[in-house]
Amino acid sequence: MTAEIGREIWTPDAFTPETFAPGTDPREVIRWALGEFPGLLMPSAFNLNGVVLLDLAAQAGYRGEVVFVDTGYHFPETLATRDTLAARYPELTFVTLNAGASPDDGQTPPDLYAADPDACCAARKVEPLQRYLNQKNPPALLNARSRDQASTRADIPFVETGGRRVKVNPLAHWTREALEAYAAAHELPVNPLYHDGFLSIGCWPCTRAVKPGEDARAGRWAGKGKTECGLWQGGNSL
Ligand code: SF4
Repeated sequence: MTAEIGREIWTPDAFTPETFAPGTDPREVIRWALGEFPGLLMPSAFNLNGVVLLDLAAQAGYRGEVVFVDTGYHFPETLATRDTLAARYPELTFVTLNAGASPDDGQTPPDLYAADPDACCAARKVEPLQRYLNQKNPPALLNARSRDQASTRADIPFVETGGRRVKVNPLAHWTREALEAYAAAHELPVNPLYHDGFLSIGCWPCTRAVKPGEDARAGRWAGKGKTECGLWQGGNSL
């Protein structure tokens, strides 16, 4: 089986998730990905996982873009975290895609997130990023998801193929405790809402703090029958 990525013919059979043991240092996975996929690109929402990945990627030699989709509904704390990170890592290029200036910007009906969150995410998150990726055409994306974030992510491998682009997930096997310990040891600027129980932070209308024992992502779209924004669902949409 081969997959055409850019002008290269890449053979996924040459790589299996078993190539890296679960305890492999994420920097090793990132260095492999940098060699394998020039033009690799990192979308980020600057959650705990994203902040840790960003720091590890910078250490591993990543010097590409960090792409954030501003839906118009982000918490001020999230935007401030982005700005703090941009100042801390001048070697990286922070790109913000503006899906809309505010909830009342006319891009979508102001209450679309309540009436049809799938349509709201599609218009304000997936479509802007998709459009940008279509322009840049990176062969692969660096992603911060980890298995213990949610039961729906329990099988995430280091490398996902089969979608439009390869997804490289260096933190796939890291636990929340390991991420927190790393962030504390390196004094990373974690979104302050995290310490108030917002273990996964998206737009303010669709995020609540999680209760003890809940999945880290249980506070996303709670009660709306939705668990993913659609960017990474099935590893295929991007
Ligand atoms: Fe809209 Fe909520 Fe999705 Fe943000 S998370 S784009 S507000 S539905």
